[in-house]
Amino acid sequence: MSDKVGETKQQVGATARDVCIHIAKEMADLVKHTLGPAGLDNMLVDAAKESVITNDGATIVKESAIDHPVAKVIMQVAKAQEENCYDGTTSVLILTGELMSQAAALLNQKIHPTKIALGYQIAAIKAEEALLDMGIDTTDEILDLVAQTAMTGKSAESDKEHLAAICVEVAQSTDLENISVVRRPNGKIRDSTAIAGLLVDREKSHHNMPDSVSDAKIALLSVDVSLPEFAAALQVQVHDNDAVQNFIESRKGQLQAIGETVLSSGANVIFCMRDIDPFIQEYFAKKGVYAARRVAKSDLESLSKATGARLISNIDNITESDLGTAGLVEEISVGDRPLIKVTETPTQGAVSVLVRAPTQHVVDEINRAFDDAVGVVSIAAEDGSVLPGGGAPYMQLSTILKEYATTVGGREQMAVEAFANALEIIPMTIAENSGLDPLDTIIALRQVHNAEDGWKHGVNVEGGGTVDMTSINVLEPKRVIAQAIRSATDTASQLIRIEKILTAKKQSEFGEDDFAY
Ligand code: ADP
Ligand code: MG
Repeated sequence: MSDKVGETKQQVGATARDVCIHIAKEMADLVKHTLGPAGLDNMLVDAAKESVITNDGATIVKESAIDHPVAKVIMQVAKAQEENCYDGTTSVLILTGELMSQAAALLNQKIHPTKIALGYQIAAIKAEEALLDMGIDTTDEILDLVAQTAMTGKSAESDKEHLAAICVEVAQSTDLENISVVRRPNGKIRDSTAIAGLLVDREKSHHNMPDSVSDAKIALLSVDVSLPEFAAALQVQVHDNDAVQNFIESRKGQLQAIGETVLSSGANVIFCMRDIDPFIQEYFAKKGVYAARRVAKSDLESLSKATGARLISNIDNITESDLGTAGLVEEISVGDRPLIKVTETPTQGAVSVLVRAPTQHVVDEINRAFDDAVGVVSIAAEDGSVLPGGGAPYMQLSTILKEYATTVGGREQMAVEAFANALEIIPMTIAENSGLDPLDTIIALRQVHNAEDGWKHGVNVEGGGTVDMTSINVLEPKRVIAQAIRSATDTASQLIRIEKILTAKKQSEFGEDDFAY
């Protein structure tokens, strides 16, 4: 049933649910082939023909052109997974798609959507309970392996030992929000490194400025350091050379006054978000002051946090109390290009990671993998518990739920069974992407998980069959799996219960929440 009501298109009942199921499956299909160590990449090309090559589920879905309110709901799942756990976005999309597929089969058997949603919730709660009893305590070595696992199957893999060591180092030395990444192409991944202090991807604005300033007094300016527009644009009538000369002199005088005002605060290092007039740049250089322009707002914010400087939006009001301090501000050279390094700041904890790789595309992809890896290390360290990867926990939970289902009874039992079957999609997809027979692999996994002590077994992507994932060092934070199951369950049960989808003709008239559940 699909019909038009006024300006909106309406999809009701079975049609609405079909749409939800179809879209959930389509989004799972979009990312399916990227799952696991042998997953392939997607190349995304936007309308402006800019391309991204990625293996990252969240990025793929974010950049894809599926434009439907239901797709937006599912996109939120990937986003939530990324924000809360830094990893597992592909898994959560695949799982959501599979829960919807399994629900479709139950709907065909005339099981009411509410019963399915309820059964899914019962199953998820049981799974969460079972997860409490599963887990391996973290150590430094385990954190390193968690980082390596997160980078498997991505461009970062070739140098994952090197990058994992950086992840563990920075994740343990500071909070995540203190870590900033500077990306530089034309280098080797192996040259990526962690640097204590802040890196700002800028350079001095005048060649006569010093290369380093010790005992830096730092001013952060969010405005142009130049004459106001109207004064700069003033035209002079040319009567004689003297008049022109006078005008130039008076303009220089005004510019110098601006420079003097800035320096009267005692600043010897200036980070400016906007532009600095060339004459003032020269003036700063003459005074031995280091100044950088067009500094990113996020860098100014990090600088403010580390050095104690306040962001100045009106140069006339600048005072010494607005300035921050650093023991050393220096320009370093990385891959033939300068970078500014700020160290010995009053608030410690800023750590920068310099990501190097041969091309911009690779640098960007390494950066994404690195962000995930640092994130998973930090949550694994926080929770103190990890699980074997390779689909092992999904298999174990599936096994537990199949047994549990027999105690549930009613129509919900079928939903719990469907849920248990849906969990198998993760190991199944990993196997398929590795060129293994998915069914054979699942049968082998079911067998080993039914046996005593088989819970750590996942897909053996190298030799086929199953393997104890801890023996091959494939580990992931428990939170990644717990959150993936929780949010896939919530999304699927939400989507199954949708009775009507109202789509405005003009997309913009509807907000994200404007469709009926
Ligand atoms: P996601 O976006 O869901 O994290 P990935 O492409 O990163 O997707 O794949 C993650 C899955 O791959 C996890 O289930 C993880 O345990 C598994 N995995 C990683 N390395 C291996 C490996 N060497 N062998 C088997 N499975 C692995
Ligand atoms: Mg991953």
